Amino acid sequence: MHELPLTENIIRLAEKHGRESRASKVESIVLVVGEQSGFIGESIQMYFDALSKGGMCEGAVLEIKPVAPKLRCASCGALFRRQPFSFACGECGGEGEPTDIGRELYIESITVRQD
Ligand SMILES: [Zn+2]
Repeated sequence: MHELPLTENIIRLAEKHGRESRASKVESIVLVVGEQSGFIGESIQMYFDALSKGGMCEGAVLEIKPVAPKLRCASCGALFRRQPFSFACGECGGEGEPTDIGRELYIESITVRQD
């Protein structure tokens, strides 16, 4: 449910950006959402379609880029995706530690149309 206020914020930011660039319409928004950010891309998409109606973002493409969480090996420093039931590094077998990769949540770009 916390995707609702998040999506409202995204739309507000995109419309502000559109107004500031004197655009007629927001064409697309690229949003980076880590799989461990606590936010569900499909929910954001659903709210976006509903909330964007009647505004500058109506009909805009919301592209959601998921980021898979990664661990960093404490021994060799390799970044790797955690396997089920294992934290072991695929390179050296060392133990992986959590990183911030996979917790991202940000707008990567907003494309507007000027005409
Ligand atoms: Zn390693």
